[in-house]
Amino acid sequence: MIVGLTGGIGSGKTTIAGFFKELGIAVYIADNAAKNIMVQSPEVKEEVIKLLGEEAYVNDVLNRPYIANRVFSKKATLKALNAIVHPAVQKDFEAWATTQKSPYVIKEAAVLYENGGYKKCDYTILVTAPLDRRITRVMQRDNTTQESVERRIAAQWSDFRKMAFADAVMDNIRLEDTKDHVQKLHIHLLRRIQQKW
Ligand code: ATP
Repeated sequence: MIVGLTGGIGSGKTTIAGFFKELGIAVYIADNAAKNIMVQSPEVKEEVIKLLGEEAYVNDVLNRPYIANRVFSKKATLKALNAIVHPAVQKDFEAWATTQKSPYVIKEAAVLYENGGYKKCDYTILVTAPLDRRITRVMQRDNTTQESVERRIAAQWSDFRKMAFADAVMDNIRLEDTKDHVQKLHIHLLRRIQQKW
């Protein structure tokens, strides 16, 4: 069973993925995989350079500030980059998933509904949190400005739009409540597996 875990920037996806990991569930972080693939796959790298130019890499390392600046200032560029990277990540994920032993696997991805990736999941969880908290969390975590976080949020779908696709919505405000919610959802998922979903 493939469980997609998504949510806007700073909602708490990675934190929640960590709670599932503590319960013995295998977790695939699509954004980390994407960064690795963008460096390690010669085919993907070539396409990225075609789209964004040689500045996308500095000494074979991703030039993340440059890429972020390019993709978050123009929607079409973000879409084009996703079209290069997402199919390669999906292939990598599928190979990884077949080697896992846990009763279900979690695929954490910032983008899941927007690109149709949710259709390849058996169940999806949407993580939400109030906008002001998300902004503060990311500013603290990345030592960045409010403006830059807001720009990234503006490039994503709203929670409201995503909710229509989600099997479960997890409002991540107090960490203890969230952990409790993860445990309940874990039991629910195990039951679904027993009943063949
Ligand atoms: P991104 O989209 O940028 O990858 P994310 O959705 O994975 O973000 P996290 O990295 O899990 O979000 O959380 C963002 C920051 O907020 C982290 O520093 C994390 O420790 C913190 N955080 C997450 N949940 C809570 C919470 N309930 N209360 C306080 N801080 C939190």
